[in-house]
Amino acid sequence: MNAIDEGALAARLTSVRERIRRAAEAAGRDVDSVHLLAVSKHHPPEAMAALYRAGQRAFGESYVQEALAKQAALVGLPLEWHFIGPLQGNKTRKVAENFAWVHGVDRERIARRLSEQRPEPLGPLQVCIQVNVSGEASKSGVAPEAALELAREVVGLPNLRLRGLMALPARSDDPQRQRRPFALLRELRDDIAAALGEPLDTLSMGMSGDLEAAVREGATWVRVGTALFGPRADARRPENGLHCPPSRGRQRP
Ligand SMILES: *Cc1c(COP(=O)(O)O)cnc(C)c1O
Repeated sequence: MNAIDEGALAARLTSVRERIRRAAEAAGRDVDSVHLLAVSKHHPPEAMAALYRAGQRAFGESYVQEALAKQAALVGLPLEWHFIGPLQGNKTRKVAENFAWVHGVDRERIARRLSEQRPEPLGPLQVCIQVNVSGEASKSGVAPEAALELAREVVGLPNLRLRGLMALPARSDDPQRQRRPFALLRELRDDIAAALGEPLDTLSMGMSGDLEAAVREGATWVRVGTALFGPRADARRPENGLHCPPSRGRQRP
């Protein structure tokens, strides 16, 4: 049923890597400092396996049930799983047990639960704090003024490792306007790192439509879905595919 066009997927991976390379070069940055997270939500495990064969290792998922089903389907592959969706308290255990990274921590209670529920043999969960820098496309994210306090709390939790900040700004087609929220996130990251005396090495920002602007402003993870996998089944509205449940299938909102 799912006819996967493996050649097309590999070609899109090459072209996204090329976009990242050019943007890094234009910014005078080492291309290896920018990591590509393949956002596979609403795309089948067969497409992920095809990208894996083309060399991709890190995948981002927004829905816990959907992600766990794919993890089961792809169990033999050494993939790195990142959770990038909004996280409710009743889902933290599954995330703590089954992911390497969480990009969208925005509440102390969620951070505390993730730390308590992280199985120690897995080592610390890598986390970013999501900041609402520009009227986020999602409603998630702490206000910039509240980010330092949350960062202090996360740093104090034994089974989390704070890596940096994440943002999901409202979409804009204007490259100049795209850069502003990314620059704000970078400045905030630098301020928080200085205040905490912690080296925060991560800026998770930039997607299919604005990854160049994000790389220009220092992104270390770009989260790319559509440009790799093609349009999602539910991607009719521009803000869609962010935090909407799948249009059909096994999951409740
Ligand atoms: C869906 C999603 C992306 C990918 O968006 P594209 O525009 O398809 O590249 C990135 N980040 C988050 C948090 C997402 O939910």
